[in-house]
Amino acid sequence: MYSTGDYRHIWDNCLQLIKGRIPPQTYSTWFQPIKAISITDGSLFLQVPNKFFYDWLDSHYKETIQGSLREVTGNGLSIKYTVLLTDTPSEEKEKIIETIPENYNRSINLKSAQSGMIERGTRINENYVFENFVEGNSNQFARAASIAVANNPGKTPFNPLVIYGGTGLGKTHLLQAIGNNALSTGHANKVVYVSSDTFTLDFIAAIQKNKTTDFSRYYRSVDMLLLDDIQFFQNKEQTQEQFFHIFNDLYQHNRQIVLTTDRPPMELKGLQDRLLSRFQSSLTVDIQPPDLETRIAILNKKASSDGLDLPYDVIEFIAQNVKSNVRELEGFLIRMLAYSSLMQVDIELDLARKVFRETGAVEKKGIVSIEDIQKIVGTSYSINLDSLVGKSRTKEVAEARMVAMYLAREHTNLSLKTIGIYFGGRDHSTVVHACKCVEERKTDNEQFSARVISIQEKVRNAI
Ligand code: ADP
Ligand code: MG
Repeated sequence: MYSTGDYRHIWDNCLQLIKGRIPPQTYSTWFQPIKAISITDGSLFLQVPNKFFYDWLDSHYKETIQGSLREVTGNGLSIKYTVLLTDTPSEEKEKIIETIPENYNRSINLKSAQSGMIERGTRINENYVFENFVEGNSNQFARAASIAVANNPGKTPFNPLVIYGGTGLGKTHLLQAIGNNALSTGHANKVVYVSSDTFTLDFIAAIQKNKTTDFSRYYRSVDMLLLDDIQFFQNKEQTQEQFFHIFNDLYQHNRQIVLTTDRPPMELKGLQDRLLSRFQSSLTVDIQPPDLETRIAILNKKASSDGLDLPYDVIEFIAQNVKSNVRELEGFLIRMLAYSSLMQVDIELDLARKVFRETGAVEKKGIVSIEDIQKIVGTSYSINLDSLVGKSRTKEVAEARMVAMYLAREHTNLSLKTIGIYFGGRDHSTVVHACKCVEERKTDNEQFSARVISIQEKVRNAI
């Protein structure tokens, strides 16, 4: 169990997880202002600036927060929010406005069971449906193929269906929409959505517990397997082997398989040829970045589903300036909303411009790949990749590994879990620990700090 003094530590760990899962500007807008203030009676108390802030967190990030807390502590803690009321006497300043019920987890499982989900894998997000997926030239074909597969799982020539496209373009949304649609229409009863890193971790855990037969039986029992981000299978020989057998079995029994990847299947390095040739015989559809009209349509749809009345010139301004992907578009909208509500100004073109000027800096920061970070750190320490991700604990290798993990957290959008996978399948808590160690040593060891800064410079130059 955790002691009541652990609250800062617990919340810090939650923040680390959350940071890896949402865009940087969303994180700084909605999560940095939250303050953990205590653990009392089995609840972690979080203080938020105002009621609007709480409403927004509750409607948009409830599961993100609750999920991270579950990962960090197991199921033991609930969350209570308090809000600072500045116009009340100081004794009454903090008011508790929400308690997540104790049986929160249980109710989710019940719901999942009713909708035909089984417990392994990850819960399907019910908000990802075809109805709110805006169609445009960039995604038309991928959307049509997804609808066909959802309506007729295992019975179209599109098995497996492979969806590929850059980050934030809607792959996960489409994948889950297929699952939601097939479940709600009864075209499939057992649908499993799982990200490839979760699949890998689950498989590793099964090996450790001698439960690989259970693992395999579970995945072979589904009607529909939705596997997200298969690029994470690269260089994971054993996982690929296992997946290959599951894949064949499902395929032979006409069960539907849908996969997503961030690059065309043929460009997936470190994937077994026989797996690649399976994908080759399938239908591959791509999603491109949305064009201007589609960006405008997406913004309109998001605004209306959030009950917002955005002036057209604001929508057009955002669509013209935020081009990279849909996730950035959403992030921009949220940031603008935060500004307007916290500063009590209307959403107008001036505000959009101001927010853009500020987020411009965030966008320019760019992202470097974790492979590049490993290469740069390896070169700086004269260590090869195998040692960096391997088991060696010599001082120099251990230090290089910690620094590489730290830089991966700082400069990529990958989750701690995924970073761990890139370092020889280490646990996310190892990554958390490494980042902490680096931060601490940077403050009390000048030489070390200089070394990290110089490597960081190289990473920045690689962007
Ligand atoms: P990916 O998996 O490709 O990285 P996601 O599916 O997570 O991207 O999409 C990022 C965000 O953008 C999600 O909130 C998703 O709902 C939204 N999104 C992406 N494409 C569309 C679209 N065509 N219409 C509406 N929302 C979209
Ligand atoms: Mg995705």
